Amino acid sequence: MQVSKRIDTLLGGGSDGWEVFNRARQMIASGEAVTELTIGEHDIRTAAPILQDMHRAAMAGHTGYASVPGIPALRDAIAARVTARTGVETRRENVMITPGGQAGLFATHMAVIDPGDTALYIDPFYATYPGTLRGASARPVAIRTRAEDAFEPRAEDIAAHADDARSLLVNSPNNPTGVVYSRATMEGIAQVCHDHDLWLISDEVYDTQVWEGAHLSPRALPGMAERTLVVGSMSKSHAMTGSRIGWIIGPEKIIGDLINLATHTTYGVPGYIQEAAHFALSLGPDFEAEIAEPFRRRRALAHRILAEQNAVGLIPSAGAMYLMLDVRSTGMSGEAFANALLDAHRIAVMPGESFGAAAAGHLRVAMTIEDAAFERALRTLCQFAKDCVDRG
Ligand code: PLP
Repeated sequence: MQVSKRIDTLLGGGSDGWEVFNRARQMIASGEAVTELTIGEHDIRTAAPILQDMHRAAMAGHTGYASVPGIPALRDAIAARVTARTGVETRRENVMITPGGQAGLFATHMAVIDPGDTALYIDPFYATYPGTLRGASARPVAIRTRAEDAFEPRAEDIAAHADDARSLLVNSPNNPTGVVYSRATMEGIAQVCHDHDLWLISDEVYDTQVWEGAHLSPRALPGMAERTLVVGSMSKSHAMTGSRIGWIIGPEKIIGDLINLATHTTYGVPGYIQEAAHFALSLGPDFEAEIAEPFRRRRALAHRILAEQNAVGLIPSAGAMYLMLDVRSTGMSGEAFANALLDAHRIAVMPGESFGAAAAGHLRVAMTIEDAAFERALRTLCQFAKDCVDRG
């Protein structure tokens, strides 16, 4: 039986970038000890009080079909949070709850793209982006950035591809680079969106993980609220990855359209998860800072370790749970380096190439293991790079 072209071409052919990760998992399955610095997930689980509230809500009967746009209390809490964080007046009607940020990325593109339309995104990129855009029947076009710009996009590079485009997807704080876009970069992005009448889809799932400077939501820039759809999530901010809870923020009309889409696709998010999310948000910014703290600490640790050597460079890391390391001095590709490091030291990191051509010769290191093991792994990685450089 034939499957649709859409599903058949979802991955775009070629490698899916997960070979090193899969090899590491195979080694682990066969009993070897591997240090994994690959996946963007906390080394803690969802906090007990949130789980207790989830249990309370389920026992209280929130197990039937829940309101498709989201329960009013949660939509209101998110609207208030967005208003407080960005200064943009946001109401319940601007919010739709989704089963995680990933579903929000797909739904937003479904809402703004007709089949075959060009959807722009920034390279390096979160690994699912091109497949998500293809899944929404878009023609994904990557805007390549440069290591020397800390992988922040230049407005003129976006503009060069924007003439026949319908949307632009940006992500700050960024996975995989750990970069937080500057105000100037965001203003450049906003200008291109105005000039070329683009929808801006702003993936802000790491907005509570900012180590330096401040996160600016582009929705807060003049004239942008009417053309921006923000994708948010509680996965990273509240260590709730498995609960699949996120949201889309946007103009009331398109939120209405997205609710129609949800009615015909997800049919909403379980009520007990939404109740627990509402409780989790009530724990406030101190709780969010507590969840982010281990990454803040390890990032400071990494800065100290990397400052002691010069074989490995660091892309200025200002946010998110990742470091983007430059190993071009070794003469190896990120993929060759990651494979060799795995073979020699049983340390798994993601090759930059897994996140697009722009990150060739780089590695993404997830700061998602406890501090002492993280320090050991990073020191070993640096020594390994130095040995490669010394050998020429
Ligand atoms: N966007 C980015 C940049 C991510 O890194 C992730 C997950 O790693 C997601 C979206 C999806 O997150 P979730 O669907 O868990 O909310």
